[in-house]
Amino acid sequence: MTEIIDGNAVAQRIRDDLGDAITTLEAEAVTPTLATVLMSDDPASETYVSMKQDDCAEVGIEAIDVEIDPDAPAQELYDEIDRLNADDNVDGILVQMPVPDHVDKQPVLRRIDPEKDVDGFHPENVGRLVAGDARYKPCTPHGIQKLLEAVDVDPEGEDAVIVGRSDIVGKPMANLLMQKAVGGNATVTVCHSRTDDLATKTRAADIVVAAAGVPEMIDGSMLSEGVVVIDVGINRVDAETEKGYELVGDVDFESAKQKAAAITPVPGGVGPMTRAMLLYNTVKAAGRHNDVSVSLP
Ligand code: NAD
Repeated sequence: MTEIIDGNAVAQRIRDDLGDAITTLEAEAVTPTLATVLMSDDPASETYVSMKQDDCAEVGIEAIDVEIDPDAPAQELYDEIDRLNADDNVDGILVQMPVPDHVDKQPVLRRIDPEKDVDGFHPENVGRLVAGDARYKPCTPHGIQKLLEAVDVDPEGEDAVIVGRSDIVGKPMANLLMQKAVGGNATVTVCHSRTDDLATKTRAADIVVAAAGVPEMIDGSMLSEGVVVIDVGINRVDAETEKGYELVGDVDFESAKQKAAAITPVPGGVGPMTRAMLLYNTVKAAGRHNDVSVSLP
């Protein structure tokens, strides 16, 4: 029997468990506060931000919604980040990516106070993650670690193959899985667009994390029996639905399921965990910022 890993259920557990930490903060008169900054009129980005705002409201995190005209000069975004860095009521800052083409992403990431960088993308936080002393683990790979833990998959000694080397998923995932720490200790191979003979690599894996952004590119023939498959991909493909599209992952779910011991669905796998771990990092940031010791799930 293949286990279908229920990301919604695990994310709900994490949200519930964050309640204790939020109660501890409230007892010290601290309301954890996340500022989301949107400089885009892309409907997908707008949806992501509004979902994050809703998630905050559900668990008792205050969400500040900052919107900047996508045609405004980059300086306007910089000034807003400076203002939020200086605002003592703000614990976490998230700038929704992508920013418009005329705004350089790297200076934006570097400008956010690393203590408020709940995405974990500031170079200081990336460095700390690599050094094995993470302040805020990036939400998607951290969520994947929690999913593996929830289904009793210990990466220790396992061969993990990650397909994708992006700064937000592939690279931090590789780092977390290779760390000499609980939830790590795997032997990690990172594959990407220039990888030769991907199928030979994925077939040798005990754990496959697919994060390439290519619809259903990994099918059952590329996997071995008993593999654990984590599908990060969220791809819109044309379909005869009301919206005219459907969401599929980077894994061909039906054929992969025939081989896998456990597999995440899309939607309902990794996505809800990414959202839950943003709340986790915000609560952690509020504890650090206000010098309140909180116990995190
Ligand atoms: P990205 O485009 O930044 O990176 C994709 C990576 O995949 C690159 O490193 C590239 O080298 C590699 N790649 C592309 N084609 C490949 C191929 N044919 N074979 C091997 N490697 C290939 O994407 P990203 O931001 O890392 O996101 C990846 C996917 O995950 C997207 O579908 C994205 O929407 C999704 N995503 C989901 C969540 C979530 O919460 N579920 C979070 C972030 C990203």
